Amino acid sequence: MPALPIADGFWGAVHNTPLIRLQRASEETGCEILGKAEFMNPGGSVKDRAALGILQDAVEQGLLVPGQPGTVVEGTAGNTGIGLALAANARGWRSVIVVPETQSREKLDFLRMIGADLRPVPAKPYADPGNYVHVSRRLAEEMQAAGGRTIWANQFDNLANRRAHEQYTGREIWEQTEGRVDAFTCACGTGGTLAGVALALKARNDRVRIVLADPEGSALAPWVKAGTVKATPGNSITEGIGQAARVPGNLEGAPIDSAETIPDAEALQWVFSLLVEEGLSVGGSAGLNVAAAVRVAKALGPGHTVATILCDGGARYQSKLFNPEFLRSKGLPVPHWLA
Ligand code: PMP
Repeated sequence: MPALPIADGFWGAVHNTPLIRLQRASEETGCEILGKAEFMNPGGSVKDRAALGILQDAVEQGLLVPGQPGTVVEGTAGNTGIGLALAANARGWRSVIVVPETQSREKLDFLRMIGADLRPVPAKPYADPGNYVHVSRRLAEEMQAAGGRTIWANQFDNLANRRAHEQYTGREIWEQTEGRVDAFTCACGTGGTLAGVALALKARNDRVRIVLADPEGSALAPWVKAGTVKATPGNSITEGIGQAARVPGNLEGAPIDSAETIPDAEALQWVFSLLVEEGLSVGGSAGLNVAAAVRVAKALGPGHTVATILCDGGARYQSKLFNPEFLRSKGLPVPHWLA
């Protein structure tokens, strides 16, 4: 394996993650199923890429200046907040992070640990002014009105998010597979990963199949199929993915060919299999992405290459996905080594 060059701090260490051949998924399908190890970014998730892209863009626009006082405000399911807070620490800025209190305790504890000014809020639908996205926007506006350099990262509609994935994640997958990738599957929170990778791969080969992976109870897969958004009651145990009632700006116009809705039990089966059979500890969205990759590979037939995203690590969900009581409360099977 070629050694990577020396990196400068958090800002230099994001990107260039390994692409891992997933053995069981590959054997089951006769295809090559590849997972991009995003849990190996310095903040532990795929969202480090978006966080860095958004802050680099803010610096280029002169909205934040390295080493001078500044504040980053964002509403997040947790991972973007972790990336933003760490990147902000490395430049001497503060971070104010608004998170729905339903997100895993591990993510909230980690945000506190790394010095984010954490503002947990009750989970509310997007149409409610108390939704975490609106709370974070208003906070940023109030701080801007009071003076000082403050940005609202606005990961859902700020296209610096998907540009980071177009310039890095997508290009990396193309180069690591030496152009033999046939399909790519990915779940969406903001849609930055899916849209950015889709744009990068389609620009190099327009026959690469792009498939949205969606949790049950999300409106995005029905939107891909029917072209309209019908509000749904999101009820998956996965975090950071699916949308109940809207298509974020980063997802609009993305070249998506089809969509797969994946039940939690099918996603979890891959979370557990990757852990105990391959030594890869991942979170729920990664399991859902692999489940979709397996479905797509089976439909394509043997001999194809399907890439997907291993968004973050399992330790972030110890109290939920790996907690027998939680699993039982959701009617989900408890794996034998946890029971
Ligand atoms: N998986 C996890 C664990 C996440 O936190 C997120 C982002 N909230 C995603 C997947 C989705 O990534 P994106 O915002 O690029 O669609």
